[in-house]
Amino acid sequence: MLTTEQKPIEEILKYLEGDKDVFIVGCRGCAEGCHTGGEQEVLDIKQKLGDAGKTVTGTSLIDFMCNENLVRMTLQAQEDKIVDADSLIVLCCGIGVQATSAVVDKIVHPGCNTVSMGGRHGEWRDGERCLECGNCILEFTGGICPIARCAKSLLHGPCGGSEGGKCEVHPDLPCAWDLIIQRLTKLGKLDILEDIVPPKNWGVSLTGGPPRPR
Ligand code: SF4
Ligand code: SF4
Repeated sequence: MLTTEQKPIEEILKYLEGDKDVFIVGCRGCAEGCHTGGEQEVLDIKQKLGDAGKTVTGTSLIDFMCNENLVRMTLQAQEDKIVDADSLIVLCCGIGVQATSAVVDKIVHPGCNTVSMGGRHGEWRDGERCLECGNCILEFTGGICPIARCAKSLLHGPCGGSEGGKCEVHPDLPCAWDLIIQRLTKLGKLDILEDIVPPKNWGVSLTGGPPRPR
């Protein structure tokens, strides 16, 4: 099961500055089990966003957001409400946020931090998408994780070795930072990369460095 913690509402509202209409997505899988993204939490966030003057265009609960095809099918059925939204907020693990980003051409805000991926979870077509860093930064990277998908886990990329959209370490794989820049360009949000982002808190990460007790 993927363990998530909901981000503080102040952080979520900061993400939503400039967005008036928002669509909320939750997950009936692990996030419901963690009480971070199930039915009740979606209702709670809906209330808080309404109190903050946002309009919620719709909500959706998906059985397993780590299944990209399921996310695609479910959200396609909500297209009319998503079209009306400036952005989406997703209450689940980093994989679900990325699955949503892959199927919706809008900014997708992460509502949770993924802190552990113990146990089984859904598979995505080409490998690991989240390394449970505990301090999700998908907000700043167009919904594509550089921790998991960049060979050097760079927070500021691409490195000098990216060539033709491929990674210098794994030339058979796309450069994650090339994907991030393409995605933000497509959304007209490349200016996000000019934001000054506070230093990442690696103290909450369970990956990288020597093994730690869980
Ligand atoms: S930034 Fe990446 S590794 Fe960290 S929680 Fe988000 S998806 Fe997972
Ligand atoms: S080429 Fe891209 S994915 Fe590969 S290490 Fe450099 S920035 Fe990361």
